[in-house]
Amino acid sequence: MSTRVYLLDNGTLAIDQSFFTWNHGHGKEIRFPVYAVYIDHPQGRILVDTGFDKDWVERVLPFEKPQQSPDQTIAVQLRKLGVAPDDIDYVVNSHLHFDHCCGNRLFPNATFVMSKAELRHAFVPDPWERLGYDRTLVDMPGAKMELLELNGYDYELVPGVTLIETPGHSAGHLAVVVKLGSEPPIVFPVDIAWSKENLEQKQLMGLHIDPAELLHSMVKVQNIAYRLGGRIFYPHDPEEFKGYRKAPEFYEG
Ligand SMILES: [Zn+2]
Repeated sequence: MSTRVYLLDNGTLAIDQSFFTWNHGHGKEIRFPVYAVYIDHPQGRILVDTGFDKDWVERVLPFEKPQQSPDQTIAVQLRKLGVAPDDIDYVVNSHLHFDHCCGNRLFPNATFVMSKAELRHAFVPDPWERLGYDRTLVDMPGAKMELLELNGYDYELVPGVTLIETPGHSAGHLAVVVKLGSEPPIVFPVDIAWSKENLEQKQLMGLHIDPAELLHSMVKVQNIAYRLGGRIFYPHDPEEFKGYRKAPEFYEG
C-alpha cells in the first residue's frame, strides 16, 4: 500500500499585505487560502494541522474576513474521502496559530504531535504574539500528546513522514516532509514561508517571533528540498494554490 497526500481546502482569510511581506504593502488587503493536509499512510492516518473555524475567526479576529463554505470545513473534507474523525491516528500541529489548530477538538482519539515549546507559547504567549494564539483551542485535558523537544534533530513520525524543527515564525514551528515512492517528495514549509515570494526572495513575513531564526529555518528547508529533489507546497500562496491538486484528488507514491 502506498502513501497518499490530500490537501483539504479550508477556505480563505484576508490580512494586510504588510503581514505577508514585512514592511511592504501597507494598506493593501490580500486574501489567501488555508488548507490542512491528510496523509493516508500504511502505518497510520495522519492529519497535519486542523484549519480555522469560521465562527471563531468572526468572533475573535473579524478583520480577517473569513470565507468558508460548508464544504470547506476539515470534517466535511475528510468525510468526502470516507474518513471519520475517529479514524485519525495522529494530528500533527506544525504550530498552534489559530488557522492550524481550530479543529483539534474534532479528533479526541488521535495522538497529538507538536513541539513542547509551541504548546507553552500557545498557553502563555509573549505580548506581541497574542494575536495568533488561543489557549482554549488546544487545552485538551486527557488528550494523548507527544510533545517534541528536538534540539535541532528531525523526527520521523512514520517511515517517510518527517518533522523538521524550524523555529522563527513561532517558537516551536515544525515543517513536514513526505517521501513518496514514485513522485518527488513533498515539502511543506508550512508557515516559515507563506508564499513562494517569501521563500525565494527571503522576504520575511511580518509575523514572527525571531526574524533571524526564521531566515535560518527558511534556508534549512530550502536546502532539504533541494537535496531531496522535493516539491515545495506553500501554505498560503493564492497563485500557487491554484495549481495544487485538492482533495478528493491526491498525490501518491
Ligand atoms: Zn502561523
